[in-house]
Amino acid sequence: MITIDGSEGEGGGQVVRNACALSLVTGQPFRITNARGKREKPGLMRQHVTAIEAACAIGGATCEGVAVGAANFSFTPGKVVPGEYRFAVGTAGSTGLVLQTLLMPLLLADAPSRLVLEGGTHNMLAPPLEFVAKAFVPVLRRMGAQVDLRLVRHGFYPRGGGRIEVDIRPGALTPIDCVDRGDLRAVSATALFAALPDNVAERELATVRRLLPEWPDAAFAVRQLPDEQGPGNVLLLEAEFEHGIEIVSGFGKLGVSAEALAKTAARRMAGFLTSDAFAGPYLADQLLLPFALAGGGSFTTVKPSQHALTACDIIARFTGRRWAFEQQPNGCHLAQEAIG
Ligand code: ATP
Repeated sequence: MITIDGSEGEGGGQVVRNACALSLVTGQPFRITNARGKREKPGLMRQHVTAIEAACAIGGATCEGVAVGAANFSFTPGKVVPGEYRFAVGTAGSTGLVLQTLLMPLLLADAPSRLVLEGGTHNMLAPPLEFVAKAFVPVLRRMGAQVDLRLVRHGFYPRGGGRIEVDIRPGALTPIDCVDRGDLRAVSATALFAALPDNVAERELATVRRLLPEWPDAAFAVRQLPDEQGPGNVLLLEAEFEHGIEIVSGFGKLGVSAEALAKTAARRMAGFLTSDAFAGPYLADQLLLPFALAGGGSFTTVKPSQHALTACDIIARFTGRRWAFEQQPNGCHLAQEAIG
């Protein structure tokens, strides 16, 4: 039984999700103590409980101690059973994070699966659906994975009610190198909103225009969603390179002005554009699991986040193989399996 102190490293929910995925793929049971120990309100939240229960359902696994607020629990994997599954995160918890838990085990299974996930699709501190579909999944496809993702309905915090559908056809993952992102081909800034004054979206875009003055007029778009999908607002800044896409998002939140949200997002995008990195900080922590399970390959990123370093630790616990980041002369950090 692998024992993980959930307060080490990043000390958040990603430790729980990565441990479940790795346990299902490697067949090793684990126990987590101090789950989400570095968060202001430690212990499992509803969305983590859903992710663990979903992992149990697809993986014939059993768990003990899993409940909202629990700090300690154990997970014993069984055999992954591909098929059709529907999971609902009881709150507006992120569907993208539940998918993060299930995708690798189902991709490495022996028959196709279809997932219907209900909850939030655009949540603060989680990958928005566009990020999963355009930044993350295309890298998996280059590794040979067959994954199709559809957004059926948007779900914003706190209301939720979103729905995504995912078709997964299994197959081995091939190691690839994502060192060079290639030339910038296109950029876009989209402000999505539902059941909010439309000047919110206009103000966000005006701020981005001011901070990214070289972006062409045609790159900017407002998208109004049906009122019943709201209230909600997300700003998505997209940069498409020859070999990959980065999406920076800003989530509307009570008490944060449209200008402040857009300024943070635009600055993050400007920072990424001036780097030479293939993957932004979020994509980097999410790519480690598929790359490690492919058994090799490499990618460049900006400075590795605590999430990424913690993902390396959890991967090493389950696979005995350590991934590490090494700074390159151009300032990027190269992620690959450490030799020796
Ligand atoms: P908590 O932090 O409360 O424990 P959590 O389970 O939501 O909760 P984290 O451990 O912080 O999780 O993990 C969040 C995950 O979401 C990470 O994989 C991170 O890369 C991803 N993520 C967060 N924000 C974004 C974003 N704006 N775009 C893409 N991915 C994101």
